[in-house]
Amino acid sequence: MKRLSLVITAILCLPCSYALSNQGQSARKLQPAKTAQDYPVKPVPFTSVHFNDAFWAPRIEINRTVTIPFAFQKDEETGRVSNFERAAAALKGELKDKKAPGYPFDDTDVYKVIEAASYTLSVHPDPKLDAYLDSLIAKIAAAQEMDGYLYTARTIDPEHPHRWAGAKRWELEKVDSHELYNLGHLYEAAVAHYQATGKRSLLDIALKTADLLDRTFGPGKESIWPGHQITEMGLAKLYRITGDERYLKLAKFMLDVRLPDAPKTSNHRPEYNQSHQKVVDQTEAVGHAVRATYMYSGMADVAALTGDLSYVNAIDRIWENVVTKKLYITGGIGATGSGEAFGQDYELPNMTAYNETCAAVGNDYWNHRLYLLHGDAKYIDVMERTLYNGLISGVSLDGKLFFYPNPLESNGQHERRPWFGVACCPGNITRFIASVPGYVYAQKGDSLYVNLFVGSTADIKMDSGRSVRMTQETRYPWDGAVKMAVNPDRNSRFTINVRIPGWAHNEAVPSDLYRFLDRIDETVVLKVNGKPVPVNIDRDYVSLNRDWKRGDVIELILPMPVRRVVANEVVTADRGRVALQRGPIVYCAEWPDNPGGFVRNLVLSDAARLTAEFKPELLNGVTVIKSRATAFAYDENGKVLKDGQDFTAIPYYAWANRGRGQMMVWIPNNESSAKPRPFPTIAATSKVSVAVQRPRLNPNRINDGEEPASSSDSSSYFDWWPAKGRTEWVQYEFQKTATVSQVEVYWFDDTGRGEVRVPASWRILYKVGDEWKPVDNIDAYVVEKNRHNKVSFKPVTTAALRLEVTMQANWSAGIQEWKVK
Ligand SMILES: [Zn+2]
Repeated sequence: MKRLSLVITAILCLPCSYALSNQGQSARKLQPAKTAQDYPVKPVPFTSVHFNDAFWAPRIEINRTVTIPFAFQKDEETGRVSNFERAAAALKGELKDKKAPGYPFDDTDVYKVIEAASYTLSVHPDPKLDAYLDSLIAKIAAAQEMDGYLYTARTIDPEHPHRWAGAKRWELEKVDSHELYNLGHLYEAAVAHYQATGKRSLLDIALKTADLLDRTFGPGKESIWPGHQITEMGLAKLYRITGDERYLKLAKFMLDVRLPDAPKTSNHRPEYNQSHQKVVDQTEAVGHAVRATYMYSGMADVAALTGDLSYVNAIDRIWENVVTKKLYITGGIGATGSGEAFGQDYELPNMTAYNETCAAVGNDYWNHRLYLLHGDAKYIDVMERTLYNGLISGVSLDGKLFFYPNPLESNGQHERRPWFGVACCPGNITRFIASVPGYVYAQKGDSLYVNLFVGSTADIKMDSGRSVRMTQETRYPWDGAVKMAVNPDRNSRFTINVRIPGWAHNEAVPSDLYRFLDRIDETVVLKVNGKPVPVNIDRDYVSLNRDWKRGDVIELILPMPVRRVVANEVVTADRGRVALQRGPIVYCAEWPDNPGGFVRNLVLSDAARLTAEFKPELLNGVTVIKSRATAFAYDENGKVLKDGQDFTAIPYYAWANRGRGQMMVWIPNNESSAKPRPFPTIAATSKVSVAVQRPRLNPNRINDGEEPASSSDSSSYFDWWPAKGRTEWVQYEFQKTATVSQVEVYWFDDTGRGEVRVPASWRILYKVGDEWKPVDNIDAYVVEKNRHNKVSFKPVTTAALRLEVTMQANWSAGIQEWKVK
């Protein structure tokens, strides 16, 4: 493998002052853009920063040795790699089996992991991995059509492409074809691979597609914007590395043509892919959260490269909207699963929070770019919050299981999975984790910025020409003490800006969305060579301008008491509740650590003392929070019982590594918001089953004792959707034979957003031997919304009851709760 001593960054490709030897395919010389302008602040590339800490270094190693090979294995097993081989065979007229691939964006799952693997190759030579990438790239090259078009979902069988692909190229791009989305990920991968290996193999494939785009789209040509953004970011990277302005112009064009779409070309509301307004006129974060953050990141790139302030003004406004109204305490974004989208202002439900892992990645791409534009560390505050909480929650500690949504509360229905049909999140995790060292430092002229605290050594080249070796010794995020050794190449005056996180000076987030319940008086301490220096915070930094000499030591002590966070009163989901935070880490209570395995019935009074304790053996080593809580439970007569018990909270990112069960981030702090544990009724202790082989939703939700807020409450229900107009059943097998004489059914009905309605009719049957007989009902079987529908019947002694539902024609049916007496 050829190693290049070029400047590499995961996020940006800095202009490089060399010309590359041509390695084969294309004769075109690369002349990296000598951009008149780019981001005013520049990140120090991840290749210059080497972690040796106990938190990140093992995680990055697991990503390299477990997650990346695992993701490649899944790409192979699921046909994502063979799609390229099949497309190549089709181009040669040799393909027999023309079965269409799974999703038209499956190509990106290969590109993303190539990108991740390239990042690891940049810092960790691995000839085997290098050769494997070569073999994948050869397959991709063979799947590319003559004119550069690359999209296996069509090439495999152009006569019958995937139904989302459209009959012609680009025809459904604005809807669902994802042709341009695939190419955007290809560009990210190609640039990473070129920078890591110096090989042009993947880059030349990418440039050939980009030239096709340039011939096809633009003023006087076709006017199409990507139905799923990322092409814009990818084109900006191609521009930086080639110096070819056509790519930058195309990125800008694809942003500027984004206008309210003619309804006939799209099944989605224009907000879904942010085409409801010109991008420069947008003021709020709406629609699909991953698409949105990729677009805002692309706008930042084009703004940095062109100086177009109208983009900056737009993304600044949108950022204000997110940070004041649409950001979870975990840094997650995208409140609703409906359209994988941002919710309304202050709509931040916990159990149904969507918070796609990819959206957390996108949020960090975007906040980092805003930081590079503005140099204000408030963006690093948001980035750090997301990074340590709602982003790394997306992968299990062993690196093999993933979350797609990252909810803030669970009744046991959530579980990590090894892979997904739509597998965007695992690949995104692999590429992001591999590049985390690139977020620690930044520089501008003769100023150095220390943004994250990680035990590490970094060799930093500044734009002023100065080189500085920085080492950090710290146990962050478990301890706020950070010792930094400064070793400049020559003793002289320059500036080191040390970030003081918002949480260390009583600011939970840079808005009024969340605040700490108390103020702390423990102050931040900063010393240079043992002598305290004044902590004057400006834009979240203390600026140390002085004569630096080799061996100078900066000591930073960030107090890390356990803090209670409260949300703005307008956030109904968090009223009467607190979240716990220590340093950058947000906590949750999870079932294995709390007596009885229940947490949703707990109340943590504001007076309860909170202590932190490091547990080296737990969850790869975490600091837990200990306290005393009150557990609430109903007795059999419906009376509420209270009992004090020990309370333990763990870092949110580490939940769901020990099986399914209850979890809660926002913990009630008063009795009125308590949710007493239901009394174990006949229903609650029954085994629930449905005829559906692999139900989409867990049927155990109907006997969980959760009192629905209404029939449309989507926090804990079961339905048979997409089945419609059928007769279906659900049954309770009792623990032992019981005499029962009454049921209550609370129907699920999502009128206004879905296709589930109260059923046409229903009845109850009981088991006699192997037969099911209808009960002799005394009351009528009613189907009213928003209440329990009670039916008494002549007592039966039986081992099981069955609830038989006949749906309305053309509608599905569902149940919130089914009680038995
Ligand atoms: Zn995803």
